[in-house]
Amino acid sequence: RAKALGRNNLKLFSSEMADAAHAKLLRVEALRHALEQNEFVLHYQPQLDLASGRIFAAEALLRWNHPQQGLISPCEFVPLAEETGLIVEIGEWVLDAACRQNRAWQDAGLPSLIVSVNVSARQFAEKAWVSRVARTLTETGLDPQYLELELTESLIMQDVPQAIATMHELESLGVRLAIDDFGTGYSSLSALKRFPVSRLKIDRSFVKDIPDDEDDMAITAAIISLAQKLKLDVIAEGVETQEQLDFLRDAGCNEIQGYWVSRPLPPAAFVARLATGRTADAVNA
Ligand code: C2E
Ligand code: MG
Ligand code: MG
Ligand code: MG
Repeated sequence: RAKALGRNNLKLFSSEMADAAHAKLLRVEALRHALEQNEFVLHYQPQLDLASGRIFAAEALLRWNHPQQGLISPCEFVPLAEETGLIVEIGEWVLDAACRQNRAWQDAGLPSLIVSVNVSARQFAEKAWVSRVARTLTETGLDPQYLELELTESLIMQDVPQAIATMHELESLGVRLAIDDFGTGYSSLSALKRFPVSRLKIDRSFVKDIPDDEDDMAITAAIISLAQKLKLDVIAEGVETQEQLDFLRDAGCNEIQGYWVSRPLPPAAFVARLATGRTADAVNA
């Protein structure tokens, strides 16, 4: 049967591959165009400190504001941008925009916030990246202590000695470093103590089934106590419910990010959200 189908199948397969390759090329072109046309935007998701009830930081999250399709999620285009290396340029745009925005908020008299920026492995591996970060801070006038860079475990584990060296250079600029999606990669606990990071971000996958999944609760509590013992800050991502918040607080986690506080917001809505103070009331209630 395979033999009978073989030849035609092969033809069909290769023309499908050519179509797929062509479609991919078009998507890469569209991304490049988006960068040139300034179609990328950042939304900001608040991070809440439970002890003070204050929003003290925000994660900058990339969206593509497509003229026809509207807002496109980073999950739809960041993987392709990473594959083709275009993420390096996009990432430079993100870093510049986030620093500029944060400085503008400070200039407008808002309480100073830390803005966290996601860094991709391709960007991090660029030779000139640390000096690029330094230059962006100078150009935007942002005090480095108000910038946090989010690195994933897999990014660090690609070349641990090199990553540690780069992290030390970034640390000496005065920026903060966090490990994003913590617990999903394979960073060994012994390596963790050598990373000059100030914060762990517990991945949403561990939070989402609290309080139903005992294993996830055990893992989450273990990450929190590990962070405490290593004197690192720890924030839980993807907190959606009061039960999750209560569990996390009881386990000693003082910082949360998730829909319970707010979805990622465009800058104006984010500022409006800061002004309402509603989250603080909700926490204290
Ligand atoms: P991430 O860095 O782990 O960001 C957290 C993601 O979880 C965001 O998705 C956020 O909207 C979502 N999230 C936050 N709270 C909740 C919640 O309570 N429930 C649920 N269901 N989701 C929640 P988003 O914005 O779609 O970003 C997805 C991923 O895309 C990010 O994961 C990050 O890996 C990547 N990404 C976003 N912006 C950038 C960027 O500027 N550069 C790079 N290299 N990657 C980026
Ligand atoms: Mg992140
Ligand atoms: Mg994350
Ligand atoms: Mg994630």
